[in-house]
Amino acid sequence: MLFRSYLLIWTTTPWTLPGNLAVAVGLEHQYARVASGGDHYWVAGERVEDIFGGDALVVATAAGSELVGAGYEPPFAHFASLREKGAFRIIASDEVTVDEGTGLVHMAPAYGEVDFLALQEAGMDLLVDPVDSRGDFTHEVPEVAGMNIKEADAVLIRLLKESGKLVKHERITHSYPFCYRTDTPLIYKAIPTWFVAVERFRNRMVEINETIHWVPDHVGKRRFGNWLANARDWAISRNRYWGSCIPVWECDECEEQVAVGSLDELEALSGQRPDDLHKHVVDEITWDCSSCGGVMVRVPEVLDCWFESGSMPYGKLHYPFENKARFEATFPAQFIAEGLDQTRGWFYTLIVLSTALFDQPAFENCVVNGLILAEDGRKMSKSLKNYPDPSVIFDEYGADALRAFLINSPVLRAEPLRFSKDGVAEVVRTVLLPLWNTYSFFTTYAEADGITMDDLAAAASPEERPEMDRWILSMLQSLINEVKVQMEGYYLYNVVPPTLGFIDHLTNWYVRRSRRRFWRTRGESGEGDADKLAAFATLYEVLTTFIEVLAPVLPFITEHLYQDLVARNDPEAPVSIHHRDFPFTDPDLIDADLEGAMATIREVVRLGRNLRKSQRLRVRQPLARLTVLTGDGRVADAVNAHAAVIAEELNVKEVVVSPDEGKLVRLSAKANFRSLGPTLGRRMGEVAAAIAALEHDDVVKLVEGGTVEVAGEGIGLEDVVVERTPIEGTVVEAGPAFACALDTTITDELRMEGLAREIVSRIQNLRREAGLEVSDRIRLLWHTEDEDLAEAIEAHQAHIGAETLATEVTRSLQPTGQKAQVDHSTVWLEIRRV
Ligand SMILES: [Zn+2]
Repeated sequence: MLFRSYLLIWTTTPWTLPGNLAVAVGLEHQYARVASGGDHYWVAGERVEDIFGGDALVVATAAGSELVGAGYEPPFAHFASLREKGAFRIIASDEVTVDEGTGLVHMAPAYGEVDFLALQEAGMDLLVDPVDSRGDFTHEVPEVAGMNIKEADAVLIRLLKESGKLVKHERITHSYPFCYRTDTPLIYKAIPTWFVAVERFRNRMVEINETIHWVPDHVGKRRFGNWLANARDWAISRNRYWGSCIPVWECDECEEQVAVGSLDELEALSGQRPDDLHKHVVDEITWDCSSCGGVMVRVPEVLDCWFESGSMPYGKLHYPFENKARFEATFPAQFIAEGLDQTRGWFYTLIVLSTALFDQPAFENCVVNGLILAEDGRKMSKSLKNYPDPSVIFDEYGADALRAFLINSPVLRAEPLRFSKDGVAEVVRTVLLPLWNTYSFFTTYAEADGITMDDLAAAASPEERPEMDRWILSMLQSLINEVKVQMEGYYLYNVVPPTLGFIDHLTNWYVRRSRRRFWRTRGESGEGDADKLAAFATLYEVLTTFIEVLAPVLPFITEHLYQDLVARNDPEAPVSIHHRDFPFTDPDLIDADLEGAMATIREVVRLGRNLRKSQRLRVRQPLARLTVLTGDGRVADAVNAHAAVIAEELNVKEVVVSPDEGKLVRLSAKANFRSLGPTLGRRMGEVAAAIAALEHDDVVKLVEGGTVEVAGEGIGLEDVVVERTPIEGTVVEAGPAFACALDTTITDELRMEGLAREIVSRIQNLRREAGLEVSDRIRLLWHTEDEDLAEAIEAHQAHIGAETLATEVTRSLQPTGQKAQVDHSTVWLEIRRV
């Protein structure tokens, strides 16, 4: 029987065929020998039909495991001598699949990691590499010597054809790696490399990592911990010119190796002490081998720069040659901060080297930030220009705004941020401008009133001041406390939200509610200027302390405020706010009950405003009543004690507290499936229907903390979702602790009052447009054809006069002055300074 038996292989890289040393099969796969054209071909059984067609003649079959060990003749004979060393055999590889190709895989260990590892596994420590570092063939393959691999493909294919070893040749399109710098095709190629044997101590690295405090926690526990647990030996050498030379010399004759640990050692060995440690100097240094008389020559590689990053704690101090004591005192570092991408970079190289050298972590705390992406979610790219120029952001919004935006973003939680300058603009609007306006408010009125540092010192002590002052001072101290705790835990993302929240408390509540205290003319009030001075002293203390808390977040604006409010008035003060210590908390100024009460008040006002907004009720339209529905005594006390403030904020005539929701709201309930589902199972439907049918009084019982029996089950408040349906003429908004009900009935009287307030607002606009001083008195002439509006103005003439400083309010028979709209009516208004 005369036939040749072939192993059929498939490759997209013919240039790797001269480097072939083995063919791999899968142990579990079935293989078939197919007779075709007078020859026989081994392929995977599952590939027979695709390759040879449905009527292929299978003459033998075998499991992959039976084929392993069989020898073959390689496609090219350049390295045929390696047969003696075990080459050109069938080996096993788990990576072999039968989805494509032939199920037999050509192995060129110099050009593929899988190939290399499979040969090692098979006990074949062999490698041939007839391609140089430029990708050109060497003289070892004379037919293509000097040719680039891609050019060589065609020649090699022709040679295969001529020797009858080409079964089929076709063109396919597939993806291929290219160099991102030079845009030229890349090849995989084995090169000799130096490794750190990380796998030997990776379990210890995992243990050491558990002693490090990571922020956020999950990065260290999961992402980094998993990476360490699966760490592979670390390739630390690079075949480049510039870099730190690997300090290893090898004999050119025998196996002798020396790792040189210092210049002293090098000098002792070679008699030379170079002052330049770059390759072109160090590579010239040689000495005689102590074992054989050969020449000791440095290995050509340099260190990967990541090895140097990992050596930072020692390298920066030139340890152990210098600064031993200093190193020991400062190692491990208290904290490092870097981006999430460094889990495979710096964080990793630091812990590898510190574990190997000192059996310690290199850092105690690690703060990890996420990456900032372009607005489109892609990486920021200079070539795509998909992000705004930072210097334009600085010019437009200021560096502080950008900084505050970034440190209040998901980046601080190691999450990605899509950068948009709208977010920066938002910081200007909600943080910088309110802070600046508060500072400006303080200085404007302090200057107008001639308030001096002595005046501020003469103000009542904080505990004697009005409640509003005590409240903001307490809030400030609590903030300092909170920021300190979070900072000490490295939780920067928990620092900024309360800090920025304080600006809201300061500007939208304290200053806004206290304005009149600052406006009041000096010496005017009966009780002297105590209240006014308390307000100024409080705002001064708050501003000057708050900027100390805020300085790391907004370094420039706080410095400006510091220079103007502190440094200018105190020659002893440090020259910069950034030279000051972080403030200490004064626990005596903290009043938790007051903070709680004020939080309640602000929440009532917020709910009330939401109600007005949702009902499209203008702020100037007075309403009869806001009812706070609560059974909580502390809420009731807070609301009752501040009813006037709430009434003013919400423009209602009356604020009342009611423990009984029943008068304003009908309560009903729905089943809470999350609470009941797991215990009730199939009975859920029946019980849910019974809950939905509960009467108002039953739901009240639940809200008050009782239990009710439905369908044979005892249920409590946690088992239901309470729904409130307001009675007609009332709207309700519920917060977590209580609900607010607003009486929306607008009586004629309320409507008239609302109209009068609109008129006041129009007149204030006219005053502003006319450039009048706040204290200028005016005479007012008004005219309207609308009797309803006229009636409102006449009824509230005294109020309008008082609010607009009009000494006379006169109805004109003719249109006069400026025309204005109030609702659907037209009114003419004319003002003259008296
Ligand atoms: Zn030697």
